[in-house]
Amino acid sequence: MVVGEFTQETDLLVIGGGPGGYSAAFRAAQRGVQTTLVEATPFLGGECLHHGCIPSKTLLAVAEILGLAEHAKALGIEFAAPKVDLDAVRAWKDQVIVKLVKGLDSLCKRYGIDHVQGRAQFEDSRHVALLGGEVARIRFRKAIIATGSRPAVLRGVQVDSPRVMDSKSALGISEIPAHLLVIGGGYIGLELGSVYSALGSEVTVVEMLDRLLPGADGDLVRPLAKRLGKQLHEICLSTRVTRMTDSDKGIQVAFEGKRVPQRELYEGVLVAVGRRPNTQELGLSNTGVELDDHGFIQVDEQFRTADKRIYAVGDVVGEPMLAHHAIHQGHVCADIIAGRDAVFDVRAVPAVVFTDPEIAWCGLTEDEAKAGNIPICVKKMSWVASGRATAIGRTDGLTKIIFEPETGRILGVGITGAHAGEMIAEAMLAIEMGAVATDLAETIHAHPTLSETMGEAAALMVHDLEKVERQ
Ligand code: FAD
Ligand code: NAD
Repeated sequence: MVVGEFTQETDLLVIGGGPGGYSAAFRAAQRGVQTTLVEATPFLGGECLHHGCIPSKTLLAVAEILGLAEHAKALGIEFAAPKVDLDAVRAWKDQVIVKLVKGLDSLCKRYGIDHVQGRAQFEDSRHVALLGGEVARIRFRKAIIATGSRPAVLRGVQVDSPRVMDSKSALGISEIPAHLLVIGGGYIGLELGSVYSALGSEVTVVEMLDRLLPGADGDLVRPLAKRLGKQLHEICLSTRVTRMTDSDKGIQVAFEGKRVPQRELYEGVLVAVGRRPNTQELGLSNTGVELDDHGFIQVDEQFRTADKRIYAVGDVVGEPMLAHHAIHQGHVCADIIAGRDAVFDVRAVPAVVFTDPEIAWCGLTEDEAKAGNIPICVKKMSWVASGRATAIGRTDGLTKIIFEPETGRILGVGITGAHAGEMIAEAMLAIEMGAVATDLAETIHAHPTLSETMGEAAALMVHDLEKVERQ
């Protein structure tokens, strides 16, 4: 047999080794389904592990330490100006990734999954050809597409220059530009903008809408915008880039909008204006799989595409494009393929922006309630009253709970503040369990912790409900 001409058979073919793909493969194999996992790159982990969640959080940890050293002054401790060794920071980031890749490889082996390298392209509803791999072709009974997404580009504006970065190249931190323009005030723009600012760049953010992080409630974003307003050079809302020109000195940028940045020349530009699904080069026209107008694969609540043998999970099926969302979808999809009666039926998906302060939310937002005319009752607890927040010198936080007015059922939670991302798990459990205000208010929260603000916000609602009862 000649390597490259071999056709392999499998019961389940998973295409893409990111969070959606590997979680589906692991779960299917655990359920006894013979599984092959195909990944185009040499390593498992996907965008999340190699160019997304993990490297960005590794660099944000570095930024956090620099921020804490600065903050320490307010607590009576002064450090000398930090020296950043970029090579060592890069080595630390790479080491984190390698460690986690090894973990995925060993799980693959433990579950008896056949991990094959190659770029899959559908020939029809039963076969894929593999480009650049040892196996030429795979015949499958069922397949899950988990090919993820890639950065969107500013068509007609973006120039091809190493100075113009997307999230992947920005995470390489090959150098720290003196002046960095960040286009897009969303997750990536604010997380990576914060990293570069901490590492010494003068950062300007331009966002085409009239607010940062359009998916989060305005009152949650306000404390972050205030802090970033001090850290970053400029935040220009309702503004967009109309032209970029590459020159010896940097990228010359033209803008239009409400607040045009003072500066026009940048040594670095980060384009972070959303992501697009990886569906173009999959040979989907050889299958019955259907796409929506934005190129996302259309699936039902059991992740079935219009082709009965083919399923899809993760970023490739649409928003929210988050790793934990992809992982949960992968598990449900694998359960269905393994013959279980499962369905993706969650009440909420948590979102966390790992800025300083962090913003975390889940379930119904106040903006969504307003837009949908949904009656709600909102209770907020400022962190100014929190013992823990005061002790750590971070009272710039807010905990907000959105209740169903008559029953006190928790519909949504939003938190801004240090460690908000760690606190959102309690809110998720409350929403999934159908908890009401009393459940949270009467749960003892350890003192002094930031999570006490959850119980306190819920107690405000209990108080209101009791008042109504007394009337
Ligand atoms: P991916 O992780 O994109 O994996 C898809 C895989 O498929 C890739 O490995 C790719 O090589 C492979 N592939 C593509 N085409 C083929 C083919 N034809 N054949 C074989 N293999 C193929 N989410 C969070 O929840 N928390 C975060 O903190 C977070 N931070 C992020 C930071 C950044 C900078 C970015 C860019 C994203 C971040 N995300 C975060 C989003 C998260 O990375 C994605 O939601 C997640 O990776 C989606 O997983 P996936 O399995 O659908 O796709
Ligand atoms: P995003 O959708 O979060 O933000 C993009 C921003 O760019 C939006 O605010 C949008 O209004 C703005 N924008 C679009 N076109 C523009 C233009 N021409 N000029 C100026 N602004 C423009 O997208 P992202 O930041 O690229 O991140 C992509 C996705 O990756 C996120 O939506 C999220 O799903 C995922 N992600 C998650 C995390 C996390 O969970 N912490 C971190 C990073 C990325």
